[in-house]
Amino acid sequence: MNLLLCRPEHCQDGEIQASERQTRHLQTTLMAKPGDTIRVGLLEGKRGQATLLSYKGNHARLRVEHLSEEPPAKLNLTLLMAMPRPKAFRRILQAVVALGVDRLILINSYRVEKSYWQTPWLQPDSLEENIQLGLEQSGDTRSPDILIRKRFKPFVEDELPTLSEGVECLLAHPGPVHEKHCINRHQAQMLAVGPEGGFIPYEIEKLCESGFRIHSLGPRILRVDTAISALIGQLYL
Ligand code: SAH
Repeated sequence: MNLLLCRPEHCQDGEIQASERQTRHLQTTLMAKPGDTIRVGLLEGKRGQATLLSYKGNHARLRVEHLSEEPPAKLNLTLLMAMPRPKAFRRILQAVVALGVDRLILINSYRVEKSYWQTPWLQPDSLEENIQLGLEQSGDTRSPDILIRKRFKPFVEDELPTLSEGVECLLAHPGPVHEKHCINRHQAQMLAVGPEGGFIPYEIEKLCESGFRIHSLGPRILRVDTAISALIGQLYL
């Protein structure tokens, strides 16, 4: 937690009440004591500093010193990601948020098992919690938009044309590197990343028909989370 992020309702009259999780982190990881300065942020708002006042029960109280800094800019990027297996999903979601993806669209794919969509990690509370962990990790305050689309074909045929208008669309796929794509930072980008088993040829064809160009990091087949980090690092950082 590099930023203690709080909801507006937990920040009143210049005082913040930390959640139980945040309080545990302050006490056991940061070993923060009353009087210490802590970096704080308001969810969907600004960042700043606060002074730790006290620990009361399971909640720390802090006094806001200032909340005047903008969070870091997001990448102008929509990640179109095949729904990962539940065990990996939480970690991937936190990393995607921490990397600054502006919008995440979770899509179905032939090689996404139906049971993946039943995971409790997709419940609104769990999504919120893991988004918050990603934001706290990276010092951001603004949640990305998350869209869940459980049917591939209707999404690609009915929604994607509008979402991809004026957007540069790349489809990450392992293989020979034919072309090095350079990102125009002023233009919106969309990056499609497949499931563990990869997109099937039909899906690749449909995405290419919708304007996606194949982008490869080389012949090594990477895990989804490694591929996303490497792709964003290569294209943006
Ligand atoms: N078995 C699949 C690989 C799936 S890896 C296959 O052989 O195609 C999961 C996803 O990570 C892929 O669909 C792709 O989007 C991304 N990925 C993995 N390695 C990559 C690489 N070297 N270059 C670009 N994307 C990659």
